[in-house]
Amino acid sequence: MRVIMGITAVTVGKKIPLRRCAGCSQMLPKPGLFRIARSGNEVSVDLTFKSPGRGAYVCRNGECIIKAAKNRGLERSLKGASKEIYEELRMILEEADE
Ligand SMILES: [Zn+2]
Repeated sequence: MRVIMGITAVTVGKKIPLRRCAGCSQMLPKPGLFRIARSGNEVSVDLTFKSPGRGAYVCRNGECIIKAAKNRGLERSLKGASKEIYEELRMILEEADE
């Protein structure tokens, strides 16, 4: 079995790569998550999932963004991130809800 990034789930013969949410720590498929990418000193929300550099993930829901902000999940995953990234995630989420 080919392992993608060390973690692979097998569902009805299909391999779905899972990522860990920085808020709730659950393993989830990428479409339900935001990717936050770090490139040099720049940390930004990667809506394309294609930005190079270190990535971290958080569920597309307000609770997990708040949880991640509290436990500094993104800071830990990315080895440093500004608090504004959580604001940015919340704003994107609010826009998507409308
Ligand atoms: Zn989550």
